[in-house]
Amino acid sequence: MRRAILLLAMVAVSACASVEKPMQKPEWTLLIHGGAGVMRRDEMTPEMDEAYRAGLNDALEAGSKVLAGGGQALDAVEAAVRVLEDNPNFNAGKGAVLTREGLAELDASIMDGRDRRAGAVAQVRTVKNPIRAARHVMEHSGRVMFAGPDVDDMAAKAGLDIVPPEYFITPRRLEALKRAMAGNFLPMDRFGTVGAVAMDRQGNLAAATSTGGMNAKPPGRVGDSPIIGAGTYAENKSCAVSATGDGEFFIRASVARMICARIEMQGLSAAKAAQATLDEVRTLGGTGGVIVLSHDGSVALSMNTEGMFRGRTDATGRKEVGIYADE
Ligand code: ASP
Repeated sequence: MRRAILLLAMVAVSACASVEKPMQKPEWTLLIHGGAGVMRRDEMTPEMDEAYRAGLNDALEAGSKVLAGGGQALDAVEAAVRVLEDNPNFNAGKGAVLTREGLAELDASIMDGRDRRAGAVAQVRTVKNPIRAARHVMEHSGRVMFAGPDVDDMAAKAGLDIVPPEYFITPRRLEALKRAMAGNFLPMDRFGTVGAVAMDRQGNLAAATSTGGMNAKPPGRVGDSPIIGAGTYAENKSCAVSATGDGEFFIRASVARMICARIEMQGLSAAKAAQATLDEVRTLGGTGGVIVLSHDGSVALSMNTEGMFRGRTDATGRKEVGIYADE
């Protein structure tokens, strides 16, 4: 009898130990990324390290201002992405990587988790902030995606900031293009992309992604970033995702939608759903990373690369940025 009671007590204790403590969901949360596949530590100068971290902090600042003031997740992700688009160190907007022909062709998308409305643009050449064009498509076109010169025309008519194509081109990206055309791809030259996911005080989710794509891409090539379900996804009952990496593989694995499906249908945490999906990407041969914010408040900033520029902040006062996988 005594042995039976002891056994029962042991089973009860081990059952308790395997139950995760319910997580306290912060009132609002913001995650950002500035691209996966970063410079090796020995190639990163202290100045560049500082500049990247400052850029990530600026984006966290812009997005968290919206959320702390009771604003919408949708406005927060747009605000954070715009700051990264304007920062020439990241591969989106000014400082985007260039096509083989030496031009920036920009892709972006945004999604509202409340009703799954979405907007996406591809091959933009003159819109200063492609994420604004994506939002314009979502809110005013009655469509989801536009590509090519019509996006530039639409944005100009809508009064968005228009810049000459040269605005996006920086000496650093010209050098990277030159190296790539000579067959010398440095890891850091390959890709980038910026993105944000947020949950606001009302519990609504949103996601946004913006990119110049891959260095030395053939003109006309479009990656995963503007593809809803691949590079970007948001749905209140599952999660919000923004991805970065080898776009072709992220499209083939439907990365963003797949992560949210795993959370919704298998009840996985953000980290487990992200890991399972990045493992699939790797099996196909691709590398990259994702930021994931689940409806239950769990988060993931996951990668299968050496690093990913990333940051997170929330209503508890937590504010962190990181570059390498092991920090
Ligand atoms: N995913 C982007 C693309 O394939 C590139 C990146 O994230 O670095 O266009």
